Amino acid sequence: MTNGADPFDIASLVVVHDDEHAFDAVVPPIAQTSLFTFTSFAEMEATYRGLKTRPTYSRGLNPTVRLFEEKIAALEGGEDALGFASGMAAISATVLTFVKPGDRIVCVRHVYPDAYRLFQTVLMRLGVTTTYVDGRDPDAVSRALVGATLFYMESPTSWVMDSHDVAALAALARAQGVISVIDNSWATPVFQRPLLLGVDIVLHSASKYIGGHSDVVAGVVAGSRALIGRIRSETCPYLGAKLSPFEAWLLIRGLRTLPIRMKAHEAAALTVARRLAAHPAVTAVSHPGLAPALPPGLSGTSGLFSFTFGDGVDIPAFVDHLRLFKLGVSWGGHESLVVPALVVLAQAAGPNSALDFGVDPRSIRIHVGLEGADALWNDLTQAIEFATHPT
Ligand SMILES: *Cc1c(COP(=O)(O)O)cnc(C)c1O
Repeated sequence: MTNGADPFDIASLVVVHDDEHAFDAVVPPIAQTSLFTFTSFAEMEATYRGLKTRPTYSRGLNPTVRLFEEKIAALEGGEDALGFASGMAAISATVLTFVKPGDRIVCVRHVYPDAYRLFQTVLMRLGVTTTYVDGRDPDAVSRALVGATLFYMESPTSWVMDSHDVAALAALARAQGVISVIDNSWATPVFQRPLLLGVDIVLHSASKYIGGHSDVVAGVVAGSRALIGRIRSETCPYLGAKLSPFEAWLLIRGLRTLPIRMKAHEAAALTVARRLAAHPAVTAVSHPGLAPALPPGLSGTSGLFSFTFGDGVDIPAFVDHLRLFKLGVSWGGHESLVVPALVVLAQAAGPNSALDFGVDPRSIRIHVGLEGADALWNDLTQAIEFATHPT
């Protein structure tokens, strides 16, 4: 099919839809190939001229990857989407598309630590500065946005769970002509659809809930055809962090159960969070679902939150005595996980010690998986009991 002279405008690609039902397979096949051959000089030339859109080389376009991108665009309510080898690849390619030396980014506090490090290292070296603001304070955001180029959000943030009025903040950015970007990994499009709230670009670490089985590292960006087209043409091919066909296939598989997984994570995590909030050893629970009302724009909550122990609990002993909960980073899979803040703060004291993580040293980040709330609660209580010293 033809779509004009822009070889990067592949949002209307039709060949992929045909391939989806290749061999009448109920599951779309994996196009595990680096290159695609042409049947004639004329076809090859038409493709290179941009008169025909079809896969040529899998760094640019691959049918399995494209299928995943189209599904994410539909889920997020965007015109187009673009897959990446990791969430950080999606973040770095997106940000690098829209900034140049002398520009300033406005970023909400307590974002994913490696996004913060990207801003403070690579972008700083390129002459791009970043101002951090409390996203719960629209006046502060509004002041910071004056003269800025890009507004980077994450809501809720993935440790302290700061929640923002995403639509209100997006409107402030739009009024100033600032492009807005949000990391929606925590809520997923099942519980938050930022493009419909007025945000320009939504991105994900697909390694988390979208994959959902802790077997893929991947990322994805969605938005208007114009903005995603710029990422596709200006940075993605040259930075080269493409999504692989096999991983796209695993992500498509993950998407089939995303809504039911999210509802199961939500229910189990709320049960565990409410019981922790009532437990005498626990001094605070940071979970957006425990507030009287959910933040505007958020229609549900996921399995990731944090809580803080009082002085009576020996945190290393608690962690070492857990059986169902595993000790590990990342989240979004079937398995339940904990990360003690003490470990993360030890890392933050290194070369990136300026990291304002907002994390209480006695807090624990917890991901509630799909094992069942009662079994998980029994595991937590036996470990708390073991680790509690009589005072
Ligand atoms: C994990 C994570 C990322 C980074 O994603 P990778 O796939 O690990 O590169 C970005 N944002 C959030 C909120 C995350 O949890």
